[in-house]
Amino acid sequence: MALHVMHVSSEVYPFSKTGGLADVLGALPLEQAKLGQNGESAQVTVVSPWYGRLGGGLKPEYLAQFEVPGMAEPSQVGRIVQGGVTYLFIKQKGFEGPELYGLANDLERFVYFCKAIPFAVAALELRPDIVHAHDWGSGLLPALLRFTPVPPQMQGVKTVFTIHNLQYQGRWNPWDVLSWSGLPADLVHPDGLEFYGDVNLLKAGVVYSDAVTTVSPGYAQEITTLEYGEKLEGVLWRTQQEGRLHGILNGLDMERWNPETDPYAPFEGLEGKARVKQELLKSLKLESRPTLGLISRFAQQKGVDLVIEALGELLEDWNVIILGNGDVFPERVLTLLGKYVPGLHFRQGYDEALAHRIYAGVDAFLMPSRFEPCGLAQMISMRYGTLPIARDTGGLHDTVTPDIGFLFPDATYESLLEGTNRALEVFQQRPQEWRSRMEAAMTLDWSWRKGASEYLELYRRLIAG
Ligand code: ADP
Repeated sequence: MALHVMHVSSEVYPFSKTGGLADVLGALPLEQAKLGQNGESAQVTVVSPWYGRLGGGLKPEYLAQFEVPGMAEPSQVGRIVQGGVTYLFIKQKGFEGPELYGLANDLERFVYFCKAIPFAVAALELRPDIVHAHDWGSGLLPALLRFTPVPPQMQGVKTVFTIHNLQYQGRWNPWDVLSWSGLPADLVHPDGLEFYGDVNLLKAGVVYSDAVTTVSPGYAQEITTLEYGEKLEGVLWRTQQEGRLHGILNGLDMERWNPETDPYAPFEGLEGKARVKQELLKSLKLESRPTLGLISRFAQQKGVDLVIEALGELLEDWNVIILGNGDVFPERVLTLLGKYVPGLHFRQGYDEALAHRIYAGVDAFLMPSRFEPCGLAQMISMRYGTLPIARDTGGLHDTVTPDIGFLFPDATYESLLEGTNRALEVFQQRPQEWRSRMEAAMTLDWSWRKGASEYLELYRRLIAG
């Protein structure tokens, strides 16, 4: 019999997106549905909020109206079917606007979103075998399934919870959570929902799911430690000891990121890449020199401050091209430096076209992350023959191997410079080795196939008990 997997997420590409979570939900379910067609037999549904503005150019087909306990207004559910996956959208009060998060009623909205799911499932007469919830926005769902009255087909369903980034936990006042969710007050204790006087929705997902996963094996290990645990290391350590914590590496959309068919900087082979580099440097008025790229959100996590600290030394040997936005301080400093300092090009903003041209055109890519759950940028770089120079942490540890890229141990500018100097030595002294590394990088397979199978395998183990 086909296994019915129901993913639940606050964002899913192309309908809604603020970050990597949406990309995973835009790719993993499609791959699981594909594996289903190849005989592994899976039926895949993705449930997410029906925001006021949905991307992707399609409108959900309206299916049903249903009641959610505690909500004055009825909820609705709509559907889009694409690529063998059924996307269900829950329409509720509070989700009329285009914003995903950051509203005063975030907690209330996402509690009721989670509460609605069992009743939407009943209204549509579905029968999932696995509920796979993602990040804090759907963190309460496993607890609701265990401790509140739900329709029969959702009773005892096995649950998986995936942590995409431990820094975003969803912490709120316990009384608000209890009054909206209907969860019993005796769950608010240190081994349950409680977290330093608040209720923590991500912790709820960790504690009350049958299995917990995160997006790389390296990060799965790290989050059980004081350095990376974001105060949840104790809970996660116990989860690991119980055999409930797993690391499954994210994949990359290998078609969207394909140098041969790239819409902005297509090339074939190493000569093609050399031409793309020349064009990039010319258009940015940079001299022909070894060139580093960095494309990132500017957040403490990503370590762009370390690059700024190291910039004086870096620019002696390299051009540096930086694309990004976020925190104001690095934006302001780089804008100023970009104006006056030769060899540095800074573009503030989110720019898909320039991102493709940088991945394709630079020699090496900087990723000095303080922590990195998985990271996609290093995989994209390698796909384009651009060698990553990355901090040895989390998903970077799992994807950047020393025969291809350059890992450095510490989140300091000195350590970063040690990494770039090692790369420079190979680039200048051993060009043949650099070429072999590029060729090896471009043949790596980052597709979702392996990850999708690992998740299916985990579901099967849970169901088999
Ligand atoms: P995270 O999800 O933590 O931001 P990842 O490395 O997993 O980091 O994914 C980041 C994705 O966003 C990559 O595809 C990267 O190319 C893209 N990206 C980040 N910043 C920008 C930007 N300023 N312009 C264009 N693309 C960007």
